[in-house]
Amino acid sequence: MPASVIDGNKISQEILEEVSQEVASLKGPKPTIAFVRVGEDPASVFYVGKKQKVAAQVGIESKLNLFPKSCTQAELCAAIDVLNADPAVHGILVQAPLPDEMNEQEVFNRVDPRKDVDGFCRDNLGKLCQEDDSGFVACTPAGIVELLKRSDVNTEGAHVVVVGRSLIVGKPAALLMIKKALPGNATVTVCHSRTKDLGAITRQGDIVIAAIGRPGLITGDMIKPGAVVIDVGINRVEDATAKKGYRLVGDVVFEEAAEVASQITPVPGGVGPMTVAMLMSNTVKACKSLQGEQSLAGKL
Ligand code: NDP
Repeated sequence: MPASVIDGNKISQEILEEVSQEVASLKGPKPTIAFVRVGEDPASVFYVGKKQKVAAQVGIESKLNLFPKSCTQAELCAAIDVLNADPAVHGILVQAPLPDEMNEQEVFNRVDPRKDVDGFCRDNLGKLCQEDDSGFVACTPAGIVELLKRSDVNTEGAHVVVVGRSLIVGKPAALLMIKKALPGNATVTVCHSRTKDLGAITRQGDIVIAAIGRPGLITGDMIKPGAVVIDVGINRVEDATAKKGYRLVGDVVFEEAAEVASQITPVPGGVGPMTVAMLMSNTVKACKSLQGEQSLAGKL
């Protein structure tokens, strides 16, 4: 296996250590994040639990707001309004997926942009387009940038092929890669389900970011020798030999791609832990900025 493995567990621990030190140095109330979860979807229960655990580890307070699957979008939005107005809450995360009857983007847009630590509301997506660093970048693409930065991957002039155009991963990842600063300054191609001859495009990529949600769609022959491969996908595939009856795999066939790539992220242990670490980092940023606003208001 010529590729070196980009260790997301290790890099995320470094970030969490930095966040922890920053939290310890803060004056005033502790950074606080409110989680909003609707229903009992097992993956959502797991992810929110994991985020709460990591928050506690770095000294961030968390509050869990649970709603039954039967709640309406109006009720959920009213609850978000209460959190928006609560000065003790600095960050708000609405765990996706929401029930099918709800318009997820409308709910995300309801979160006060200053507390939108997930970076999903239109103001923060707009700030990303405008390269305004006062906004929040969605945690997964922000984590990808940190992985590249801390693995000494030079994006300047590189051809980055992003597969996937979702608002939470593909699109913001592409915007970050074309940013007029490093890591960025790349030439970016975005592929999606209507792209013709995907392999012909991914094979041009110096960096391939796969955010598709299709297990093993990207095979070794779709990767240019020496490319850097970032596998965002988290897919469950049945595995009778595994304790839980399934195992997690990415969108890339790891064993094949690792034979040709120079660096590659594993699944699990690549992008996943980075997403949680960046959420903590965004929460501290929100806390500092809101407290700055409050102290300024106090002086006026
Ligand atoms: P979405 O389903 O929202 O988007 C998937 C994208 O992949 C779409 O743009 C879709 O195209 C494209 N696509 C689907 N099939 C193909 C195909 N055959 N060829 C090319 N493109 C295709 O998924 P997300 O962006 O939310 O998530 C993607 C993956 O990343 C999932 O496995 C998810 O679990 C994982 N994920 C991991 C995170 C982490 O922390 N590591 C965080 C978030 C997501 P089109 O737009 O045309 O439909």
